[in-house]
Amino acid sequence: MNSAAMNELPLDQATFENPFVDELRGEISGNKGSRQVPGYCYSLVKPTPVQDPHLLAWSDELGDFLGLAKPPERGPAVDALAGNLVTGSMKPFAARYGGHQFGNWAGQLGDGRAISLGQVAAVDGSRWEIQLKGAGPTPYSRRADGRAVLRSSLREFVCSEAMHYLGVPTTRALSLVGTGDAVVRDMFYNGNPQAEPGAIVARVAPTFIRFGNFQIMTANGELDNLRALADYVIRHHYPELGAPSPEVYVRWFEEVSRRTAVMIAHWMAVGFVHGVMNTDNMSILGLTIDYGPYGWLEPYDPDWTPNTTDFGSRRYAFGQQPRVAMWNLMALAQALSPLLPDAEVLRNGLDEYATTLATTQHTLMLRKLGLTPLHPDEDRALTEDLPQALAEPEVDMTLFFRQLSHLAPALLAASDNEDGLFDELITAAAYSVAPDEDRNVRQWLHRYTARLRQEPDSGEAIRERMLRANPKYVLRNYLAQQAIERAEAGDLSTLETLMHVLKTPFDEHPEYHELAAKRPDWARDKPGCATLSCSS
Ligand code: AMP
Ligand code: MG
Repeated sequence: MNSAAMNELPLDQATFENPFVDELRGEISGNKGSRQVPGYCYSLVKPTPVQDPHLLAWSDELGDFLGLAKPPERGPAVDALAGNLVTGSMKPFAARYGGHQFGNWAGQLGDGRAISLGQVAAVDGSRWEIQLKGAGPTPYSRRADGRAVLRSSLREFVCSEAMHYLGVPTTRALSLVGTGDAVVRDMFYNGNPQAEPGAIVARVAPTFIRFGNFQIMTANGELDNLRALADYVIRHHYPELGAPSPEVYVRWFEEVSRRTAVMIAHWMAVGFVHGVMNTDNMSILGLTIDYGPYGWLEPYDPDWTPNTTDFGSRRYAFGQQPRVAMWNLMALAQALSPLLPDAEVLRNGLDEYATTLATTQHTLMLRKLGLTPLHPDEDRALTEDLPQALAEPEVDMTLFFRQLSHLAPALLAASDNEDGLFDELITAAAYSVAPDEDRNVRQWLHRYTARLRQEPDSGEAIRERMLRANPKYVLRNYLAQQAIERAEAGDLSTLETLMHVLKTPFDEHPEYHELAAKRPDWARDKPGCATLSCSS
């Protein structure tokens, strides 16, 4: 046992602090019945116990960081992770929020199945809220059951950790616990309900406050709560901005916009599609939040979304994400406007979003291409022309950049067999290339090669830095589905392998090479691999 582990506590012995509950107006009846909760920021509500809580997966590094010991499969710590045990320092609550769903104001939503236990101190003194998703009904459950199934919980658990290790701003996940209870879901809303195993994810973030927490206050004319919530977020999560004031609200909105832009730029750089960018799924900290019917781009297609509910309008397709985040920030600006004498100043935040998005996307793309900023204008044209070139021959985004990294030294060296190298790359990364469809990507590769030759570093050095910018492993949709099917059959080995590899996604891991392969044909249209619903 190392010294860090010696100081680790089981979760049931950890001390929780509860500033959200202590500092904001909440409803304290404890009544779990579905209802409107005007006038309050949250409702105190205890998790509903489950039959047989047992640990399925644990995030070791996050546990170490939080000073929490990995618990045995069953026992008091796992009971706490399932909501069966509420310790003396916890004040469990469900937050009240609203949101725009698919562009329409939906009124009060709130934590319908997520219950926060409070926050714990990490080894560096920072504070982290622990929230149980699937912990039972709350006043915000509407007509649903407050539970979550194993498949969606596993997807949230693995993907939030995978995103973290890719360097994408995200909420984290500490544990995945099986409940021993069955949960009935009609997965494709086609009149075919099935009993599925239930599960609970303990997810972790400084706070889970969303744009929608502010929207509901403004929509209901609860300006005292709006101000209290804004001041709370600034004091606890943006203390560097100073004491809340109208000027500070403006700078705060700029900072939220900046962080949102950084998050979106990262999504675009790794090929992540959130799938449900409703305003209630937008974190006030600029973190990826609420992993539902998300997916990873395989063939490069800006119009792709995994979410079956969105097949008609494709509002949340990969290429729409930058625009939608801006739309969501405008909704947040509108919600914050009662705090300011002149809300026009919030436009600065929207400008900040646009500028930061463009510069961050460009910087990340240059890194992926192994280029240093030598020729700003020429390089901008080069990076902007790539998406179109990739889309035509259905090139797998992850494979393309990884293969390109490996090819960099050869591209620098060879001038006579460039086309041979391009063939190799396109064959390795493309799903289908009809005659002539690769003309644009070849042309682009010629331009890129010429530009690469202007870099001062050696081919080896360029390759090494590209390999740190282009992951070999991402959570391909079919890989998550395989882990789910095996976990449902009681075999956790695929989940464990994925967690292991996705922690160091830039390393080669030759023994797991097959997990970096092109999506197999059978997964092309398979539910769970190509299509996902919101049912979870
Ligand atoms: P989502 O699409 O998962 O972001 O959820 C949208 C809203 O529905 C949120 O208010 C959720 O808390 C709520 N919700 C989703 N699933 C359930 C469920 N099984 N039980 C209760 N509330 C739910
Ligand atoms: Mg949500």
